[in-house]
Amino acid sequence: MPRKIDIEALCAEKGLRITEQRRVIARVLSEAEDHPDVEKLHERSAAIDPGISIATVYRTVRLFEEAGNLERHDFGDGRARYEAAPESHHDHLIDVETGNVIEFVDPELELLQKQIAEKLGFRLVDHRMELYGVALDRKN
Ligand SMILES: [Zn+2]
Repeated sequence: MPRKIDIEALCAEKGLRITEQRRVIARVLSEAEDHPDVEKLHERSAAIDPGISIATVYRTVRLFEEAGNLERHDFGDGRARYEAAPESHHDHLIDVETGNVIEFVDPELELLQKQIAEKLGFRLVDHRMELYGVALDRKN
């Protein structure tokens, strides 16, 4: 699993005012390994500080996202899911039955994408790769 950025430290670096509630949400995000949506983030944050409302979670993730501390994903089910901005690039495979997300890096795939861009006359600066699958060994 690629190491995730410490959102709290990054906020401090960028001079973002970090309230106690934002700190809790930042920690929940930094510790999450499952790309949670806002409902899940709220559930986990409220377990630590019951005073945190879902509106606060919405506002805070928007703030973190604008500051570049957070990546928003749309994995095809219409709900935004979040992860602390990764320190190194990775791609995602989404289990369409469970919504589980598996992170992977494939050097051959990275190279191929670079080559495709070059063939089309571009220098690749970024990409997003999402694979959607059904587990081969799932019972019932
Ligand atoms: Zn990820």
